[in-house]
Amino acid sequence: MKLGWDSEHELFRSELVSFLQTHAPPEALGGRDLIGTDTGDIPQWARRWQAELFDNGWMVPAYPPELGGRDADPLECLIYAEELGRRGIPRSVHFGGYAIVGPSLLEFGSEDQKAMAPAAIRGDTIWCVGMSEPDAGSDLANLSTSAVSDGDSFVVNGQKVWTSYALHAEQCFCYVRTDPDAPRHKGISVLTVAMDTPGVTVRPLRHITGSAEFAEVFFDDVLVPVENLVGELHGGWRITMGSLAHERGGLWVDGVASAERAISDLVELSISLGRGSDPVLRRQLTELYVEVQSLRALGYKGFASFAQGSSAPEHSYMKLASSELRQRLYETGMDIQGSFGSITDDAVAVEAGRWQHSWQVSLAATIGGGTSEIQRNVVASRVLGLPRG
Ligand SMILES: Cc1cc2nc3c(=O)[nH]c(=O)nc-3n(C[C@H](O)[C@H](O)[C@H](O)COP(=O)(O)OP(=O)(O)OC[C@H]3O[C@@H](n4cnc5c(N)ncnc54)[C@H](O)[C@@H]3O)c2cc1C
Repeated sequence: MKLGWDSEHELFRSELVSFLQTHAPPEALGGRDLIGTDTGDIPQWARRWQAELFDNGWMVPAYPPELGGRDADPLECLIYAEELGRRGIPRSVHFGGYAIVGPSLLEFGSEDQKAMAPAAIRGDTIWCVGMSEPDAGSDLANLSTSAVSDGDSFVVNGQKVWTSYALHAEQCFCYVRTDPDAPRHKGISVLTVAMDTPGVTVRPLRHITGSAEFAEVFFDDVLVPVENLVGELHGGWRITMGSLAHERGGLWVDGVASAERAISDLVELSISLGRGSDPVLRRQLTELYVEVQSLRALGYKGFASFAQGSSAPEHSYMKLASSELRQRLYETGMDIQGSFGSITDDAVAVEAGRWQHSWQVSLAATIGGGTSEIQRNVVASRVLGLPRG
C-alpha cells in the first residue's frame, strides 16, 4: 500500500504553493473569518485576487483555462483545497457567482447565458442568489415569488430574504414560481434579473457581527425578458442542485482546515494567557484535536469513494460536524479568556475580539446551505436509511 502523492501531483502542489507565496495579498492570509464588511461591499483587494486566480488558472482548477482553471483532476482539486485551506486563503469573498451561478449557467443556460459564466467565476459580475423567502427557507419548494408571462417578459412580484451580497450585486439568480397549480417542486423556474431593473428594491439586514452582507430584496411588477429564463420553464428545481459538482469531493476541506487552524491558535492562546498547564483545558483541547483529525480521516474516506465515481455518504455529515465543531472551538477561545471572553470591543478584547467575532460568524455556518437540523435529517434518511420523518 502506498500512502502519499505521486510526482505529478507533487509538482502541481509546488506550482500552486509558489503561486500563493508570491501572489496572495496580505489581506487574504491568516484565515480570519471574512464574512461581510460593515457596508456589505466586496473589498477591492478581494476582487483583484479573484481575478488574478482566474487569469492564472487557479480559480476553479477543474475548469479549462478559459473558465479560470487548468483541467485539474480530482486529486489536484483536493490538493488545491488543502493548500488554500491550510493557509486560510479565500479564493473569493462572494461565493455565489463562482460556486453557484457560474456552474448553473454552464450546465443549464442558453449560449448567451453560458457566455456570462466567465465573468461570474472571475468575480467581474457580482451575483446574488435569490432562493430564501420569509416562508421558504429549509422548505425552499414553498417559495411564492411569482413570475407571470406576458409574452415577451415575465412580471415578477414577491420578496426574497437573507440574500447575500444583494446590496452590491449587479445580477440576481432568482428562483420564482411560474406555475402555481403544479405540484410544488414542478412549478419553479430560474430567471436572471438585473438588479437595476425598475421595481427591484434592496433593504440591508445587519448580522450579529454588525456587517451588512445580507439584504431583503423586493420585486414589484419587475419586467424580466423571457430570454432570461435559465433552463426549462418550470424546470428550476433541478437547478437548485447545480453547484461545483466536480469539487464536491473536497468541499469539506475548508471546514476541517479552519478547525485545525483554530486548534493551533487555541494552544497558543492558552499558553500566552498562562493556562497551558491547566489539566482540564489540556484535556479539552486534546479532545477537540482528536475530533478534528477524525473528521479529516472521514473526509479522505469519502473523497476516495468520490474519486472512484461512487457516492460519498460521509460527506453529508461533514458540513454538520465541522460547522458545529468550529462553534465549540471558538466558544473555547472565549472560555479561555475568562471574564474577558464576553468583551467584543476590538480595542480592549484579547486578540482584538477575534474569538468572539469568529464565534458569532460561526453561527451562520450552521444555518446557511442547509441548517444543522436539516443536515441531521439528511444523514438519518440517506446515510442511516431511516424512514423520512
Ligand atoms: C450566512 C448565510 C448566507 C445565506 N445566503 C443566502 C443567499 O445568498 N440566498 C438565499 O436565498 N438564502 C441565503 N441564506 C438563507 C439560508 O438558506 C436559510 O437561512 C436557510 O435555508 C434556513 O431557512 P430559514 O432561515 O428560513 O429557517 P427555517 O427554514 O424557517 O428554519 C427555522 C428552524 O427550524 C428548523 N427546521 C426547519 N425545517 C425543519 C425540519 N424539516 N426538521 C427539523 N428542523 C427543521 C431549522 O433547522 C431552523 O432551526 C443564507 C443564510 C446564511 C446563514
